[in-house]
Order: sequence, then structure tokens, then C-alpha cells
Amino acid sequence: MIAEVILNSNAKQLNRVFDYKIPETLASKIKIGSRVFVPFSNRKEPEEGFVVNIKENSEYKLKEIVKADETEYINEKNINLSKWMARRYFCNVSDCIKLMLPPGTTTKIIENRVKEKNASFVYLKKDAEDIEEAIENKKIKSEKQIRALQFLLENEGVIVTDLEMFADVTRSVLNTLKKNGYIEIIEKQVERNPFVNKNIKKDKDLILTEEQQNAYDTICEAIDDHLFSEFLLFGITGSGKTEVYLQLIENILKQGKTSIMLVPEISLTPQTVDRFISRFGEEKIAILHSKLSVGERYDQWNKIREGKAKIVIGARSAIFAPVSDLGIIIIDEEHDVSYKSETTPRYHTKEVARYLAKENNVPLVLGSATPDLDSYYRTQKQETTLLELNKRANNARLPNVEIVDLRQELQEGNKTMISGKLHKAIKENIENKKQTILFLNRRGFSTFVMCRDCGNTIKCKNCDITLTYHASTKKLKCHYCGYEISMVKECPECHSKNIKHFGAGTQKLEEQIKLLFPEAKTIRMDIDTVSKKNSHEKILNQFKNENIDILIGTQMVVKGHHFPNVTLVGVIAADSSLNLDDFKANEKTFQLLTQVAGRAGRENMPGKVIIQTYNPDNFSIECSKKQDYKLFYNTEILIRKQLKYPPFCDIIVIGINSENEQEGNRITKNLHTYLKNRVLQENLGIILYKGMPAPIDKIKNKYRFRIIIKCKFDDSMIGIINDVLSEYQKMKESKNIKNRVIIDLNPNNLM
Ligand code: ADP
Ligand code: ZN
Ligand code: ZN
Repeated sequence: MIAEVILNSNAKQLNRVFDYKIPETLASKIKIGSRVFVPFSNRKEPEEGFVVNIKENSEYKLKEIVKADETEYINEKNINLSKWMARRYFCNVSDCIKLMLPPGTTTKIIENRVKEKNASFVYLKKDAEDIEEAIENKKIKSEKQIRALQFLLENEGVIVTDLEMFADVTRSVLNTLKKNGYIEIIEKQVERNPFVNKNIKKDKDLILTEEQQNAYDTICEAIDDHLFSEFLLFGITGSGKTEVYLQLIENILKQGKTSIMLVPEISLTPQTVDRFISRFGEEKIAILHSKLSVGERYDQWNKIREGKAKIVIGARSAIFAPVSDLGIIIIDEEHDVSYKSETTPRYHTKEVARYLAKENNVPLVLGSATPDLDSYYRTQKQETTLLELNKRANNARLPNVEIVDLRQELQEGNKTMISGKLHKAIKENIENKKQTILFLNRRGFSTFVMCRDCGNTIKCKNCDITLTYHASTKKLKCHYCGYEISMVKECPECHSKNIKHFGAGTQKLEEQIKLLFPEAKTIRMDIDTVSKKNSHEKILNQFKNENIDILIGTQMVVKGHHFPNVTLVGVIAADSSLNLDDFKANEKTFQLLTQVAGRAGRENMPGKVIIQTYNPDNFSIECSKKQDYKLFYNTEILIRKQLKYPPFCDIIVIGINSENEQEGNRITKNLHTYLKNRVLQENLGIILYKGMPAPIDKIKNKYRFRIIIKCKFDDSMIGIINDVLSEYQKMKESKNIKNRVIIDLNPNNLM
């Protein structure tokens, strides 16, 4: 017998099958999906690969498979999904297979792992980019060191013994890496059980409201029909969507089947998970997200694979959990951008979920208070069934939203970040022992530093991005590449000492709040305060339990948390997301403001929201004041239609990155010319834009160009893009400058 094998490599030219003979001795072991080792070209060691097909004959003279795994990790269905994804998202099949393998096994599959209570964790000490560069430039030569680093690049915070096993290295290799400043080793308690220290009360089903019951019944009919169907559960914040999910999952559980419940990475806090544990108990639940250690993820993965966990709760990649008896897929906060992968493979979780739900004849339920415009549009075209929850489940009233015009504040001489109205409301709240959340979509102390004499702003030398001032370290930092310098005392251009901070971030806001309300206890949550495992949860718990008056934060405070005592939410500047160079700017602003507003007055106390803005007349701000999604949708969908933007077309971005500006420009021009000729010759009905530098035209010393196409994404378009990629392969053969071409289908943004 002959096996078709895909090598585990991300090299484009290896993205095809190779035929190998299956030796007699391995015949019983090898199936579609088996992991095998094969001789390849003139490489010394056998290469790892996966069997994607088995057949009788081959036209070539063949080498034999050397070795095969006992355990079957993936199956034919996984292979088919991988092929489908590779085609749709223009990546290698092996890139997709990796998403479905047990965590940590891309380097080596381990069966029996050591369990420990206290352990040393290994963290990378340098940026991923620097490490990749050191490997590429042969600054690090040792295979073993490279293996260890590559493993760490994929898995943050690994226990030393795990790393030794998974990457197959010895302690002395790690010691060398430590000595050379690549890694650090930190002593910490092991939490192999992510549910550790949980003492959760058992809780029972609530009696559903009429709206909830109607949604539940409609979805249950689909479950009973054993047919694929898609639902959009559109319910304002606090309308009881989660209760509907819980009861649906209970129904699936009774049938002995497994549910996949996806939530955005950032809201995968124990608060969310607790609600599921208290309903179903932790034995039946597995959780998967990137903050777990690789060992924990491995255990959770196994629990699912062995069929012990019947409820999988996780972020984006949990859609690939090894479930064999799928009963339902639920995607909460379905509008969240984290459902689109921004690295290879650049997949859309909803599309993969749809594929799996169809394959298994089960329902797909999307839930949101502010649905993705595309999801709502699908309900209008009857592709998705719309289920609405218009009332708050526990009769809590929607908060009262007020808009404050910051231009007027400025005219009246208020130079702080807090308007008169917001100031008064915060003061009242502190006196009444109620809690306040202040939201600002910028971290750092102030966004940028500018010379008041010549107008020069201080930018990153690698990225052409304005540097951000961080007060705690007194440094200017680039948010893209991590480049940092000490705060400048004079303008590098004109040497004036008249340097001023402009704009304001969360740190500065916290400082002002402490000055304005010295009696208040505050806590701040942003990327800078949330980094090591669990500290996200710690901050939220502290806020909830320790009489803290004010939580100051970025984006992170927005997602699905439930704080009964929060009655006031202040949005410091609603404009930051409006000024993006992006057709989704209005949608993002509306979603963000509505989600923030939803944090106020979740129980019987009325909530108040104050939105400060320089653009009080913008319709997305007006609609969020009214908390009126449909009004927003009806306005925005017309604009999209007129300007021909999604959902009325698909957008493909061909991104060209190059070390060399001229070279990047040349490739971009050539690819554009190639496409233009095809469009003209074949009369293709697509809109092709000229190749251009990207809005952020340099990141980490790579020049960035892009070609944007508006089209209907279908088989013929896939063919055309693949032709473009072959053109590129031909073009770059002559040069030894490093370039990269990335295809992104319907990306989150066009930056
Ligand atoms: P959402 O997921 O839509 O934001 P939740 O499911 O978190 O809403 O519900 C908000 C609050 O209402 C929670 O405190 C929840 O316990 C409560 N709740 C939900 N459904 C019901 C119900 N049928 N009866 C009483 N309270 C409910
Ligand atoms: Zn100057
Ligand atoms: Zn930079």
C-alpha cells in the first residue's frame, strides 16, 4: 500500500503530498491521520509528516515510511478540515493540522508526563522577533537550543521538566540559554488543574422568561431534527443569553453529546467558567485558552479526547478540540475580533464552526448584544434565524446614557480628562459606596510626545509609529516592536526643550483621578498591569471584593463581566476608535460603547453611562446613546452598500513585506500589473486597487505594502490568488532579500 504524506513544514513548496510505501510491519498501524516519519531528500534525520490518503498504486519509485505513531491523534475528518482551510486561507495543510494536535506535540509526542506540585517555569526573555532573528542569522547554532526556543515561542511559560521532554533537551541546554539571556527561569506553584481551589455552589436552572423559552425551543427543534441550522441570539447585555446557552448545553448533555462553547479570549475569566461549573460540575468541563500552561492544555485536551469532558469552553482555537460526538456549537460575543486569527492560518472561527456544524448536522448558535454587521445581514437574507431577547432577564433597567461634548468643556477652560458632569457623578458614586468603571482605549501615560516649537513627534526607528510614554518606567515605548528609549529632554530635530505630552493614556488618567479624588481607592487594568498568568482575574476579583471605588481600564474592562455594584461607567474619549483608517470604524465604536454601557446597573440599581467625545454628532455615538442596534444597523448597512464594502463583497488583502523598500515596491507593482492584466483580459468582475504602502508602512524594520481586492470570494477567486502566489514565487527566485507575501481574507482591519 502507498501513503500520501504531508510534511510538517511551513515551506510553501512542500505544501503538497508525497507518496511513500507502507512497509508490511507498519501496515496495521497506519491510517489516514497517522503521524509518520519519512526519509526526505538528502536530510539526515527522517522528517515528520501526516498521512492524508492511502492508495494502491503510485507512478513513482518510492521510499518507505520509517516509523509511525501508535496513537491516532487526528483522523480523516481533521485532514479534510485542514485541506479545506488551507485552500480557503492560503496556507499549508500542515499549518492547519498543527491546530488539531495535542498541545505541545509539534515537537515531540509524549505519553506519560510527570506531574509536580512546585516547579520552575521557563519564560522567554527576549522578543519573539529577536529570537527568530538570532536563529536565522545563526547567532544560535545549536539544534537543541533552537528546539527549546521554538517550543517556547509557541508555548508561553513552560515547566522546566516539560520543556526538557517536549523539546527533547537537557538542563545544560537551558542553562546556556539562560546564561546568554534568552530565557529566564522562575520558581512558581504548578497549577495543573485550572479549576484549582474552586469551591463552587451547585446551582439550578432558572425559569426561562418567555423570550428565552422561545429561543430555547426554536434551537431545540433544530437539535431534534439532526440538521444543520444557524441562529443569531441577539440579546441586549444582561438579557439572559448565558442562561439559554446553559440550558441548551444541558439538553445536549442529556443526549450524551458534547458542546463547544466559545467565548472571546479575554472574557475567559473564572467568572465565566464558574457559571458553567456551578451548573454542571467540573468533571464534565474542559477549558482551553492560551493562558494555561502547555501541560494544563495537554491535560484538558486529553480529557476531551477521552470523552470525559462533555463541555468544552474555550477561546478561538477550542473550535479544533478533539470532540467525537458534537451536539452543538455556541459562539458568545460573536462580533469579537479575536475570533479572526491574525496569524497563519488566518482563519475565521465562525466559518470553521459553520463547516463543523454542517458536517455533524448540529446547530450553530451565535450570540451578541451588538452582532457583527455581517451576522445580522445574514438574518435578513434568511440564512440565519434571528432570535431576539429584548428585555433584561432580571428586570434590571438599561442604563441611562448621556453624551458630553469635550469641545465645550475645553472652551469652558476644563483642561482635565474629566468633564464637569462626570466629575459630579463620580463624586456621588464614591459617597454612595457604589463602584465606577472608567474606560479609555489607550494605555500608557500619554499617547505621544511632541515638540511645541517645531511640531516634531518622537517616532520608533523601526516602525514609523509614534512612541508612547510610560510614566512608571519614564520610557518611550513602541507598541508594535517593543523598541524603547528614555524620555527625551529636548527635541531631536530643533533641540527645543519645549516638549509636551499629548493625548492621555490609562496611567495618566489614574494619576488625575487620584488627584481629583484623593479619598477614592482605584485599580487599573490594561496590558501593562495584566501580563503574568491570572493577574487579569486578580484585578477583577480585587475590584469586586475589596471595596475599590474606581476601575480604570482599556478594552479589557469591556467584555462580559458582571459587577453588581457598578452603577456608573464613564467613557473618557469615545473618539479614539472613530479615527481609525478603517471601514469598520463606526461599527467598532458602536460595539465598544454599547458593551461598555452594558457594564452599568446590571442588577436592581439603575445605571448611568457618561460618554465624553469630540464628535457628539457621529451617528454611531448617537446610536449607542439610544442603545439602538437596529437604528445603527440600518444606517451603517446603507453606507456599506453604497461604498460596496462587506457584507456586500469580500475583501482580500495581499500583503507584501520586505526588508528592502525598493524590492517591496517592485514586487507590489509587478503583482498588481499581473492582476490588472488578468482582470482586463478575463473581464473579471472584481475591484482591484493600486498597490500601496500600508497605513502603517513599516513595522519591525519590514516595509509593508498591500494590494486590496473587493470581490466575491469563490473558487475562481481562489484560483486567481494562487496564480498570484506562483507569480510571486517566480519573481523572488532571483533575489536574496527577505520578502513575504500574506493573503488575508476579510481581515479585521486594513492597517
Ligand atoms: P447575558 O448573557 O445576556 O449578558 P446573563 O445570562 O448574564 O445575560 O443574565 C443576566 C442576569 O440575569 C444574570 O444575573 C442571570 O442570573 C439573570 N437571569 C438570566 N435569566 C434569568 C431568568 N430566566 N430568571 C431570572 N434571572 C435570570
Ligand atoms: Zn522641535
Ligand atoms: Zn517599533
